[in-house]
Amino acid sequence: MKQSTLLIGGETVATTDHAPVTNPSNGEIVGYMPLAQEADLDRAVAAAAEAFRSWSRTSNEERAAACRAIAEKIGEHAEELAQILTREQGKPLNGLGSRFEIGGALAWTRHTAELDLPVEILQDDNKGRVELHRKPIGVVGSITPWNWPVMIACWHIMPAARAGNTVVIKPSPLTPLSTIRLVEIISEVLPPGVVNVIAGENSIGAALSAHPGIAKMTFTGSTETGKKIMASAVATLKRLTLELGGNDAGIVLPDVDPKSIVEGLFWGAFINNGQTCAALKRLYVHDSIYEEVCAALADYAGKIAIGDGLDEASILGPVQNELQFNKVRDLVDDARAKGGRILTGGAPMDRPGYFYPITLVADVDHGVRLVDEEQFGPALPIIRYSDLDEVIARANQNPAGLGGSVWSADVEKAKRYAMQLECGSVWINKHGAIQPNAPFGGVKQSGIGVEFGAEGLKEFTTIQTVLS
Ligand code: NAD
Repeated sequence: MKQSTLLIGGETVATTDHAPVTNPSNGEIVGYMPLAQEADLDRAVAAAAEAFRSWSRTSNEERAAACRAIAEKIGEHAEELAQILTREQGKPLNGLGSRFEIGGALAWTRHTAELDLPVEILQDDNKGRVELHRKPIGVVGSITPWNWPVMIACWHIMPAARAGNTVVIKPSPLTPLSTIRLVEIISEVLPPGVVNVIAGENSIGAALSAHPGIAKMTFTGSTETGKKIMASAVATLKRLTLELGGNDAGIVLPDVDPKSIVEGLFWGAFINNGQTCAALKRLYVHDSIYEEVCAALADYAGKIAIGDGLDEASILGPVQNELQFNKVRDLVDDARAKGGRILTGGAPMDRPGYFYPITLVADVDHGVRLVDEEQFGPALPIIRYSDLDEVIARANQNPAGLGGSVWSADVEKAKRYAMQLECGSVWINKHGAIQPNAPFGGVKQSGIGVEFGAEGLKEFTTIQTVLS
């Protein structure tokens, strides 16, 4: 079985220690993750700092061309990356799984290539000229989660490098192999040291986020870890982009035909088995159509094939890891004990691997953990409401503020209510549909800053004002 290596300054670096990476479908070892030591981290930061000297001076056109060339390479290696991803993450090759994720990585990379941050002229008259320039920040530290590892790595690496920064990325120890391969592929295009990858346990992430040579941290993961990263940024006043956990509310108005929204509701909640930051995690349905929506969702869930990710027939796979599997099971058990009505699923599947079925829990409300906490798995609480203004206020009673949605036959009415939700993105009659030109980020405890588009690119720059 392959022992993967670090990539530092354009060279592969073997480590003495490794940790096995397992397939959540069956527990089989799929490869070995290199375990970086702090000395490796120091080398990676030094290589990135060295590369920054020349990369930061390359022209806008050169960097755009490099991103286009990387997109080509990702396209050439798409199936190879998808296979690695399915083996370590569990998500199916098919459906909205690994091939879909690599397609997303490609689309975001292409889009980032075409972004531009031209000099802004703020004043140009007989009193003087004021120009606003955007300059790269330095070495960016990137830490990624296990749910969409390749796509999120591209969300971090591409805008950072496009703006002239260099990068040290540390993937999740649960899904490191696809990111290591991605960086190897990217490095066929970029000069040595522009993107470096280290891997290891959480402690190497903590060391990266505290490293004095890192000028900015870009982090996607849980709110809990995000707070630790923010704390360790203090000593050197690192810039931060934090994309953290969510507990997105979806609110169904009484005027919709449940059948017309069931597919959108289902995939809004269960894409990647619910292990998606901006998945629909609390569904509020008006009393007048509550039972109809519940029945339509349960019926749709029954049609979804769950199985080994390598099986082309599978549309959803296992939960990614034991911790998450236990969390989902506990939250569902707790909801049942508090009077929740299980419409479908409700107990682990009788097979090896971390397989938990699609689970819909009706007749639950605030005060039940499945509603109040981020489940990050295939279990959706469905909450009954009768007053729309009141339900908006209640939906906002949560520390998270990533996404939200309103479902109605009247789009303008839906928008009016949607804009009262305290979250960074709101969707009408869909949920979680992110796209490369729409800035994405959380409010409240779901994060700081945005990703995507020119607004996201700006986060990898500092402003220099030139007055003459
Ligand atoms: P996590 O916070 O446990 O881990 C994320 C990364 O942080 C991993 O690479 C991990 O090794 C690293 N890490 C752990 N402890 C660290 C520390 N003390 N210092 C530095 N790094 C450390 O999150 P996860 O379980 O991998 O991902 C799930 C969470 O991520 C969910 O809450 C989900 O909502 C969130 N998420 C958010 C977005 C978004 O864009 N807002 C996207 C995907 C996932």
